[in-house]
Amino acid sequence: MISVITNRQIFEYDIHSLVKAFYGREEVRVSVAEELPKDFSGFFLQYEEIAASWGINRADPNTVAFSVYSEGKLLDTEKEEVSRETLSDRILLKNTVKRCIYRLLARELKKELPWGTLTGIRPVKLVMKGLSEGETPGAIGERLKQVYYVSEPKLSLALEIAGREKVLLLETSGAKGYSLYLGIPFCPTTCLYCSFTSFSIALWRERVADYLCALKREIDETAKLFQGRRLDSIYIGGGTPTTLTADELADLMGYIRDSFDLSGLLEYTIEAGRPDSVTEEKLAAILSGGANRISINPQTMNDETLKRIGRRHTTEEFVQSFLLARKAGFRNINTDLILGLPGEGLSEVQHTFSELSALLPESVTVHSMALKRAAGMAEFLKEHEELSSVNSAEIMGEAEKSARSMGLLPYYLYRQKNMTGNLENVGYAKEGCFGFYNILMIEEIQDIVALGAGTVTKRVYYDPETGLATGRIERCDNVRDPLLYIDRIEEMLDRKRRLFSNGEAG
Ligand code: SF4
Repeated sequence: MISVITNRQIFEYDIHSLVKAFYGREEVRVSVAEELPKDFSGFFLQYEEIAASWGINRADPNTVAFSVYSEGKLLDTEKEEVSRETLSDRILLKNTVKRCIYRLLARELKKELPWGTLTGIRPVKLVMKGLSEGETPGAIGERLKQVYYVSEPKLSLALEIAGREKVLLLETSGAKGYSLYLGIPFCPTTCLYCSFTSFSIALWRERVADYLCALKREIDETAKLFQGRRLDSIYIGGGTPTTLTADELADLMGYIRDSFDLSGLLEYTIEAGRPDSVTEEKLAAILSGGANRISINPQTMNDETLKRIGRRHTTEEFVQSFLLARKAGFRNINTDLILGLPGEGLSEVQHTFSELSALLPESVTVHSMALKRAAGMAEFLKEHEELSSVNSAEIMGEAEKSARSMGLLPYYLYRQKNMTGNLENVGYAKEGCFGFYNILMIEEIQDIVALGAGTVTKRVYYDPETGLATGRIERCDNVRDPLLYIDRIEEMLDRKRRLFSNGEAG
């Protein structure tokens, strides 16, 4: 276990995230103590008072020092002076603390992190903010290097994506519009790495009708609340929506069509995540229900890995489902991949891309395995020490190169906590096939109304004069258990009403 002690109760969460990014699977504990325990081994963050030479108030700490100790002996220190301005600005001070930690750990461990000190999930948002404030890409790049130590390749990826998103967002109605997410929390089996709301369809079959009934109550309420506002995108996810029967899909999508004005819709996506749940009838129902984008996810094109991670399908079944969707008439098919699956390295990822490229998907979303939230995977790796779960800048670079050679361009990016290699998830797509919902959701510039068990609705406040998001965001969540969701549907509706109660967003 890596122990960090700080002498002030501040930034514990950020310190934890950054140290964890360096140490990967090791447990990291951050605590607060005025004095170091005797024989302490670990890291100590100190706000020192050495103000005399500056002639300012002695009570103000004006140096941040991050030091490493072994059995009570000081081994190494990294310091940075902080001005009065920095001291009174939480963000400036936090950045200073993180830079000290970064420099010392990079030196100790002889390791750099691709995103430098950035531990948040939306690095592109920083670039977008700079662009909206009139900063040039060059100046933004310099700032990200100086303040956060972001590496050159990640910098250029973030700048490219932000530039593309900026143009795409002009097509949306921004903060004045809204998007819908509907969750179908059932799956054929549970994948080893699953961190989503997912329940066995076999166990739930008898109650699916009740679930859909409750979902329709939420659809009614949302249609009322959002009357007159443009609906930009719809995303039906899960779980696996295609665990519903063709009739259930047709009924649900018909209900959506009758409840909302879809005339301004830029995109309507449905996940058919598990190829073993796709049939010709379901694809026909989805198409006539109005969806124009579908996601069929192999995760890997290596059968050994698929067995290992508990997905019940083979790569051949994925190919058949993909071709079935193509034949049914889908012209925008996304395929999700995960890098860092157990037992996979560069050559397995190369194999996956070479198989996938033959199918010419319009979009590939590349995820880095995130360990902590996937309890099953963490257990599995403990039991199978011979199998590593690694992702690296080299493997991500290979994925990027392969996606580009398939004519796909990066258009959205986000990160999660505890990703292997401290990397990112990137969506690649052909011109004209970029996923609007993904961008709107990650950039947090409009309301995302989420219906169904385990979903989270986000209200984005905006300035009615400028039409721009103010940065204030409020959330309300639905209970995760479908039984509770059905039983407590009135409460879920109330939560939504309350969230959007004070009239116009703004
Ligand atoms: S398909 Fe997705 S939601 Fe379902 S078990 Fe697998 S990871 Fe979880």
